[in-house]
Amino acid sequence: MTKKVATAQDLRLVNRGTIRRLLRDTGPLPRAELARRTGLSATTVTKVVAELVADGSLTEMAQEPGVEHAGQRSAKVGRPAIDVALVPDAYSVLGVQVGAGFVQLGLCDLFARLRRTAEFTFDLAATSPEQVVEAIAEEASRLAGDRRRVLGIGVAAPGPVDPALRRNLLSINLGWRDVPFAEWLEAALDLPAVVEHNVRAMALAEAHYGGARDAATVLYVYLRTGLGAGFVLGGQPFHPGRYGVTELGHLRVVEKGRTCACTATGCLETVLSERYLREQVLAAGGDQARLMASVEELPAVQDEMVDHLTTGLASAVNLLNPELILLGGLFGDASDRVFAAILDALRAKAFPVLRDAIRLERSTLGMNAGVVGGAAIALERLFYTPEGSDRS
Ligand SMILES: [Zn+2]
Repeated sequence: MTKKVATAQDLRLVNRGTIRRLLRDTGPLPRAELARRTGLSATTVTKVVAELVADGSLTEMAQEPGVEHAGQRSAKVGRPAIDVALVPDAYSVLGVQVGAGFVQLGLCDLFARLRRTAEFTFDLAATSPEQVVEAIAEEASRLAGDRRRVLGIGVAAPGPVDPALRRNLLSINLGWRDVPFAEWLEAALDLPAVVEHNVRAMALAEAHYGGARDAATVLYVYLRTGLGAGFVLGGQPFHPGRYGVTELGHLRVVEKGRTCACTATGCLETVLSERYLREQVLAAGGDQARLMASVEELPAVQDEMVDHLTTGLASAVNLLNPELILLGGLFGDASDRVFAAILDALRAKAFPVLRDAIRLERSTLGMNAGVVGGAAIALERLFYTPEGSDRS
């Protein structure tokens, strides 16, 4: 292939991704508006839209009466305006969350909405990463059904990933190192695969499909086995440095504290994790089964949780100034009263000009956040992103 041909092909994919993204983020638009907002010529828009209508991912629809888009002239009398819209079920993607001893899977549409789900548990001490990936491939295969309309699979991995989003480099809570999820899953499923840090994938899902669509910078904090964080900047996952690590859970919050799984001492995760909260609730005679409710019934346990969490969050606010902070995982079960207590404590610890602007909300993704996050990263790479591959 000559360089010129490759460039034309690249441009075609860029244009497809650009138009799909715009329609995802704004909803249906007429062709003229697509051209105006993307800066592409009317001829290019017409050509790309025709290709995407032909492959089934876009459809034409009569504009609803009374609906007029910003910057758009009124339709001529007698000629109904036609909008172009995404067809959410034209393709699907698989999302996977790999946790400490459990895996959740889901088949999602082009708006990362779950259509079907599956899950399984595994004995962490007795199961190798290869065996877990084998089981994931089997379940994914069952969920996917007709492969021709499945774009690929996205894995929300329990730790940092390589810059190419192929490998999970380290998971301290699972004791795994350098697991080539993408390579193994592609071999087993014959579908493109992509891997992202689990909480960053959740942040991305919230930014494009959930409660953070109006925020330019989003910090997602997820409490379960550990305390993870992911940051989205301008609609894209923030990948600072070589590994894109944002290890909120490993900020030191306790002097001379417990030794952490990461080998440092006093990390936030040593005093804020599902296991730690269970210990505290049990020691105070509470009921572990309703963990967050029990935390709330035990003022000392709740105060300690709020104090440690906000010490970590205040550092994140002062360094990164997120427009919106979303709390997910076990925080999904926390009451509005706990959220108010967290916000109060956070404001007291954050830098003055920043504290009044803090927005703190509950994640909209619930306990499926990792699965939807995996689907979101697959959609981003395989359907909406300019440099992504394109199966059609
Ligand atoms: Zn640590």
